[in-house]
Amino acid sequence: MKIDFSNLRAANISRQAEWPGNDKADLGFRALEVADEAGELMGALKKLARAQRGIAGNTLSMQDVADEMGDTVIALDLLAIEMDFHFRVWADNDWAHQAGPPTPVEELALMLDAAVGNLSGFVADRLQEDRGEVRADSTDQKIRKHAGRTAFWVMCLADALGVDLETAITTKFNKTSEKYGMATRL
Ligand SMILES: [Mg+2]
Repeated sequence: MKIDFSNLRAANISRQAEWPGNDKADLGFRALEVADEAGELMGALKKLARAQRGIAGNTLSMQDVADEMGDTVIALDLLAIEMDFHFRVWADNDWAHQAGPPTPVEELALMLDAAVGNLSGFVADRLQEDRGEVRADSTDQKIRKHAGRTAFWVMCLADALGVDLETAITTKFNKTSEKYGMATRL
């Protein structure tokens, strides 16, 4: 799977220009946004698993999972805008197509959760460095690395669940624009 990130970048920039209060959204806010959306994705996966296995409790559908995948990628790109980097290549997901039994969805989800945890940790380091007016270049590299890994695990999950990630991103982007009365569409 490969995703063209340039359309999302243009749409995010355009929508943020019309989003009230956008000038108050800084790196810390963007990292919280990624952690929040990834957490919503974890919740949707748990509730989908309940539906599929007949476990009692609230359930959600595959479309709900796809929506949260879209939100997570959109939030990652907003963080990348704040950090001034691009997801240059969405690596072909060879890893997910290697021989052997498919990796269970829960395992992929936990890898995604771990990547987000690392991302949050290095953003916290960066914020702390900024307060101390000493910034290590390696911290920014680590943020980029774990943002990329987070995106990779979202791709793996989409593959494993048969979700078309590009459609999921577009659908959720436009739902959000409609919900908040923004003109920008993807
Ligand atoms: Mg969400």
